[in-house]
Amino acid sequence: MIAEKQYAPELANFIGSSPTAFHAVALAVDLLKKNGFEQLDEKETWERLPAGKYFVLRNESSLIGFIWQDRAKSVEMIGAHTDSPCLKVKPKPVIKTCNCFQLGVEIYGGALLRPWFDRELSLAGRALWHELGSSELHSSLLDFKRPIAIIPNLAIHLNREANKLQEVNRQSDMVPLLSLTEEEQPDFLALIEKQLRSQYSLPEQIAVTDHELFFYDAAPPALIGLEEQFLSGGRLDNLASCFAALQALLAADTNETTQNCMIMLNDHEEVGSTSAVGAQGSFLRDILERLLPNPGERQAMLRNSLLISADNAHALHPNFADKHDPQHQPLMNKGLVIKVNANQRYATNAKTSARFRLLCEQAQVPVQEFVVRNDMGCGSTIGPLTAAKIGVETIDIGIPSLAMHSIRETAACKDCWYLYQVLQTFFTPARS
Ligand code: ZN
Repeated sequence: MIAEKQYAPELANFIGSSPTAFHAVALAVDLLKKNGFEQLDEKETWERLPAGKYFVLRNESSLIGFIWQDRAKSVEMIGAHTDSPCLKVKPKPVIKTCNCFQLGVEIYGGALLRPWFDRELSLAGRALWHELGSSELHSSLLDFKRPIAIIPNLAIHLNREANKLQEVNRQSDMVPLLSLTEEEQPDFLALIEKQLRSQYSLPEQIAVTDHELFFYDAAPPALIGLEEQFLSGGRLDNLASCFAALQALLAADTNETTQNCMIMLNDHEEVGSTSAVGAQGSFLRDILERLLPNPGERQAMLRNSLLISADNAHALHPNFADKHDPQHQPLMNKGLVIKVNANQRYATNAKTSARFRLLCEQAQVPVQEFVVRNDMGCGSTIGPLTAAKIGVETIDIGIPSLAMHSIRETAACKDCWYLYQVLQTFFTPARS
């Protein structure tokens, strides 16, 4: 179990080592394996599983991990998402303007675009490759881990209106610059092949056929502020919740917990969750059906269970206090936020919120509430989607944070620790 002092630095480290959903899941797999969790393969049929610790992957970007008991009556669940808004390299990305080598990107999810300008950017993701002369495909993660690109702003002298509200053109303005070159057509795939060879000991003759590569802020997450109360970094939404869920599962001792404990770390939340690996897809339902093939047994267990959907909330921004409902202004360092929405953008109801409050009391963690202003639109998360899919009672909660969906987001270290405390208490109530 992690001590409070160590928690924020370890979280920063986890996020810094997880530039993409693929990397976050790979790190989670490492941790689970080290702690005795056994990997299950969806391509095989499973016999009724003996009590134990297991995990399953889909697409290397979504993970379900669980501690399974023989006679448990409930399966307590924590959901979070592995993806974050960012810039994704297009299939044919190479752009040559004069002597500038640039890459065309798609915008993944609802990214706040302005903060991407003048940042040192690195590139990471997954590449599919084969040896020349062989048709056997391999999938490898790669990460340049150094600033290899930048999207420079236009100087204010060339755009005197720049400080007024101006639209960012998603096609022409967001084009990272990689190098100056005299080459007619720089070979991007060769660049990826070279990176793969430098990371793994691969044969000289390999060919990359496809890739899913994402730009990210090369500056690692850091503890900042006069008293280092803040964690600043990319992808706090929602790797801060993934990390807490994972640590809660690792801390749940098979002997001490009499319930089943399960975490779902889903990809594709930022683009609506409709995919084979997203919360709107079949992943969780398929796994539950395998674990409990009898529909009556499965439904009874789900009706006895609770899902905590953990995703970041909006903390009150000191410069924009009027953006919050006056009665619902979550403050940083003041605990976890229960998210409520009458129109079911969040799945919280009075019953689940009451249960969560008691859980927080048990874990000695303060609680706050968030409701969006009536004159503003409300975000959503995997909570309502999962609840609708499997009919489990659900609560949406999260740590309060600033600048959500920016290239760097900010949260209070203490709130990150609080989340871990509550999730751990949820999985191992006997210990608290
Ligand atoms: Zn989120």
